[in-house]
Amino acid sequence: PFFKEFLPDYSREMPLLEAKLNANENPYGPSPKAISALQKVAFKGNRYAWYELFDLMGKIAKEEGVDIKNIMMGPGSSDLLEKTAMVLFANGGNVVSADPTYMSLIRVAEATGASWKAVPCKADWSHDLKAMEAAIDADTKLVYICNPNNPTGAMTDAAELIDFCSRVSEKVPVFVDEAYMGFLEDADKNSMVSLINEGKDVIIARTFSKIHGMAGLRVGYIVAQESTLTKLEKVTRGGMGIAYTSIFAATASMDDVAFQDKSRKLNAECRDYVYQSLDKMGFEYIPSYTSFIIFPIEMEGKAFLEKMTAQKVGVRAFEIMGKNWCRVSMGTMEEMKLFTKALEKVLV
Ligand code: PLP
Repeated sequence: PFFKEFLPDYSREMPLLEAKLNANENPYGPSPKAISALQKVAFKGNRYAWYELFDLMGKIAKEEGVDIKNIMMGPGSSDLLEKTAMVLFANGGNVVSADPTYMSLIRVAEATGASWKAVPCKADWSHDLKAMEAAIDADTKLVYICNPNNPTGAMTDAAELIDFCSRVSEKVPVFVDEAYMGFLEDADKNSMVSLINEGKDVIIARTFSKIHGMAGLRVGYIVAQESTLTKLEKVTRGGMGIAYTSIFAATASMDDVAFQDKSRKLNAECRDYVYQSLDKMGFEYIPSYTSFIIFPIEMEGKAFLEKMTAQKVGVRAFEIMGKNWCRVSMGTMEEMKLFTKALEKVLV
């Protein structure tokens, strides 16, 4: 592995922050319609959500253009990333992914007994698909792709990725984590979901935590072949962990397209503001397709986090390819102004 993450001390620091820009949360959510739907059904919290969950799955299946049998729900996509790793790596093997990337699935794969084959990203930080394909061997049980990628915010070309997934999934399943896809204007064109109806062995993860602003309400899902979901059912019934109220919030949020549009627009405005501020201060950044921006800094990660926290601004620090980096989530414009002020004090 070529990268290292510095985790903030959540319990001590979080309450002190005036700008919480360290967990890629959507500052505008949940949608008012989601909140009102949730409140309305709170009294039904004594019940298991049974057909209500199927209603939501049906709605998601329709939106994704797949059969309901291709959908599995979870309390956030984290749960499904982790459970996929538990099932696929029960007998060891290895997982091929980019380095750096989002580590949830890989960490559980390692804990289950698998090894990680980390393939450095290309110079533009997109996935090096050729090198990833070459890294696949007889022990590879899964390829993990996060697109757009976290922590880089970079995007891998959809046409190249479709080609890669189509070919590679003949040998080994490909997991595509599309957590940030909702921030793109043309998410449909970039999603890998269409491969499901072509019978390809791909698993696509999506979440209500980002564009829907429901990180604390915990709803996510995967789209996969029915045979894959049957394997996962060994460790989860899928959706059993989702709160009754969150199911209704998710349904209402899907209908509130105006809220999603607003989140996307304000996120892009904040990105532009941060780009301009970083330009002025002389930082170079990776152009972002997500709700966060990462850029190299000249300070060791732990010391940097402490200094930013002292300014009441929470961000993340990484060490990638021997350099220190700051990753900042897009909050409200007000929060981004606090961030640039703090950054100027700490680093300029
Ligand atoms: N995948 C990626 C790439 C993420 O960045 C995150 C959260 O930050 C997740 C998955 C997990 O999100 P959740 O469990 O809230 O759906």
